[in-house]
Amino acid sequence: MELHELTVHELHEKLAGREVSAEELVSSFFSRINSLEPKLRAFLTITEEKALMRARETDKLGKYEGLDGIPFALKDIFCTRGIKTTCASKILENFVPTYDSTAGRRLEEQGGILLGKLNMDEFAMGSSTEHSAFYSTCNPWDLERVPGGSSGGSAAAVSAGETPFALGTDTGGSIRQPASYCGVVGLKPTYGRVSRWGVIAFASSLDQVGVFSKDVRDCAIVMSIIAGKDPLDSTSVELEVPDYSSFLDGNVRGMKIGYPREYFQQGVEESIKTAVMQALKKYEEMGAIIEEVSLPHSEYALPAYYLVAPAEASANLARFDGVRYGLRDFDAENVIDMFSRSRSQGFGNEVKRRIMLGTYALSSGYYDAYYLKALKVRRLIANDFEKVFNDYDLIVSPTAPSPAFKLGEQTGDPLTLYMNDILTVPVNMAGLPGMSIPCGLVNGLPVGMQLIGKAFDEGTLFKAAHAFEQNTDYHKMRPTLGVK
Ligand code: GLN
Repeated sequence: MELHELTVHELHEKLAGREVSAEELVSSFFSRINSLEPKLRAFLTITEEKALMRARETDKLGKYEGLDGIPFALKDIFCTRGIKTTCASKILENFVPTYDSTAGRRLEEQGGILLGKLNMDEFAMGSSTEHSAFYSTCNPWDLERVPGGSSGGSAAAVSAGETPFALGTDTGGSIRQPASYCGVVGLKPTYGRVSRWGVIAFASSLDQVGVFSKDVRDCAIVMSIIAGKDPLDSTSVELEVPDYSSFLDGNVRGMKIGYPREYFQQGVEESIKTAVMQALKKYEEMGAIIEEVSLPHSEYALPAYYLVAPAEASANLARFDGVRYGLRDFDAENVIDMFSRSRSQGFGNEVKRRIMLGTYALSSGYYDAYYLKALKVRRLIANDFEKVFNDYDLIVSPTAPSPAFKLGEQTGDPLTLYMNDILTVPVNMAGLPGMSIPCGLVNGLPVGMQLIGKAFDEGTLFKAAHAFEQNTDYHKMRPTLGVK
């Protein structure tokens, strides 16, 4: 097997066994990146020189523990000291942060080597990575299709073997949905589990940092490093971080799994339902107890999300005014004009749409009718989950209603695009952990299964997801990309 096909734990063994040096490893990933990027376009910035320097330092020290010598990449929403961080927006096109995100820093402290920054929808608003102000990323399984979004670059890069793992963010599905479209593992941890310090904010009550990897073990390794309290982020929770690898025992005997009736309706394609039902059968054969459950308020999650998320975005994005960061219009006559011209030029259409929606929903006369109402709906959604979790260990559903769609197919209609998140958004609304793992192929395209857990019970997700991998081969499927 080639290096780019290997997982983090396999690469670690190669390094520790001195079969390959960090420099050789990092160079091999750059050759992969350089040969694929002209057609895939998953990266926005490549940090080859820095990475090779770090790799040489690693080899000089000659110790390969933790992530020593293991390459990774970050969605371009994570601030990186001295490296451009654009959030795929023109307004931040030349923004070079003076500090690192906590999650990224923790990976580097463990020896991980940053390969570069990955494409995304502008400010993480979207489900296809077509809202990037720079270019779209292609799906490695079919270059005419989207990789999903907003962390589409992260999903595509891991799937294509341009990086062994990557970080992304998930506000309404932006890790799980692209993971599903690209056939990789994607975890959105519980709200508060991972620090968001240094991650550009979209909707603060929903955003969460998470992992893309080739298999569940890699995801557990990375989560054990990035999770945990951070004094720089007051929303990160003071709770011990277990060694997530210890949950990988392959045993789901007696585990109670509920599958919500509502998640098999709502426009979900038949082929997707069939793939996930087959996966549930597999769990049954493995000794789990499978039962239908109900989350009755599911249909209100998406409309409520599209009030909460834009409202918070409109407040978070007020800081991009041409004064402190990034783009500024120099032809303006006065300061108000400068704000408005800088923002008009700097933000793309989807971002403007969200700012307008959010500002409207928060305006004084409408607050009770929209934002406050949405918060009440949010409580009902959380209660639904709580009720099910009184009797069940895990909830399983499809991740997205369809496989990856064609580039350009949904760009004309924002509402159609919003529907792709119908099965992931409720999990963010309730602050719960959710994971997508590959569970089938439909017409040559990957299908993802979503596992939803109790708050801070990522361990059960790892346990169940790993057990599925032990009994199936879907995680070994790789796109060919026309190159071997
Ligand atoms: N697609 C959803 C949106 O556009 C979710 C995005 C995300 O999770 N960042 O808001």
